[in-house]
Amino acid sequence: MEIKDDSVRLTGMRPELLFAMMVANEVYAGHNEILVITSVNDGRHSLTSLHYAGCAFDCRTRCFPSHEYATAVALEIKRRLGLDFDVLFEGDHIHVEYQPRRR
Ligand SMILES: [Zn+2]
Repeated sequence: MEIKDDSVRLTGMRPELLFAMMVANEVYAGHNEILVITSVNDGRHSLTSLHYAGCAFDCRTRCFPSHEYATAVALEIKRRLGLDFDVLFEGDHIHVEYQPRRR
């Protein structure tokens, strides 16, 4: 696992995201790819994005051969993380966010 460059800010990242990064890293490794974190608490996201609460990160997907492949990887990460995480392939990256739900 690695960060894209020094523009990626980890400041205020929730510990739950570290778990999610570990799981995503394992999934990427299973596809023989290195997980590159392209954004955490940085960049320009939507006004109310969970990135600004340290509850979301983005993963590089250009290593994958197609959108279908990246979608399948996102689903695999989502399955392993469970109900409290949303994992979406957004066209040029996989977005992972921690949003706990009532049990
Ligand atoms: Zn995102």
